[in-house]
Amino acid sequence: MGGTFDPIHHGHLVAASEVAKSFDLDEVVFVPTGQPWQKIHVSESEHRYLMTVIATASNPQFTVSRVDVDRKGATYTVDTLRDLRAQMPDAELFFISGADAVEQIIGWKDVEKLWDLAHFIAVSRPGHDLSLSGLSSDHVSLLEIPALAISSTDCRERVSRGYPVWYLVPDGVVQYIAKHGLYSEEATNNE
Ligand code: ATP
Repeated sequence: MGGTFDPIHHGHLVAASEVAKSFDLDEVVFVPTGQPWQKIHVSESEHRYLMTVIATASNPQFTVSRVDVDRKGATYTVDTLRDLRAQMPDAELFFISGADAVEQIIGWKDVEKLWDLAHFIAVSRPGHDLSLSGLSSDHVSLLEIPALAISSTDCRERVSRGYPVWYLVPDGVVQYIAKHGLYSEEATNNE
């Protein structure tokens, strides 16, 4: 499951858990992006990586990969999947994304190569229609999951306005954000 995870929240975790159950997966690998090619202001990748480690620590089925944070330059999913394939040559790979992301896949780099590297699973997300968006069901599966109207953008805005993010993100992530002063008004003004 690729994502910016700025910060990781319970919407991400529920999506991963539901897909793991429905598709009988052995493991869900969370892959925080290095430099997302579509987003300009993102927190340092080490912060996003560590928050992802904290959020997933209690689930033995969840792991976190550094392939994207350690690769220089913009992150493209085709590179993510190639690196994971090299590390796990015998694994059957699935790429988990939300309904909003699947609408955009057609514009991703080397889209035709993606289908050889992994099968895509798109999960429902409040505010977005879950559909194949013109893609083939040979390449993409759709899964309805419990609706959690949480986004990282909203979490960041809440912190910057002094509102709590308890219960929207895991407890350890709330503490990490506070300890490092992430998303505070001051930090936001400095961007
Ligand atoms: P931002 O608000 O900064 O754009 P985000 O909340 O969309 O962030 P990402 O890290 O960009 O979080 O998302 C990673 C993946 O998780 C994407 O494929 C996204 O569609 C999916 N996702 C994020 N939040 C949810 C949610 N609440 N329900 C289902 N899928 C989600």
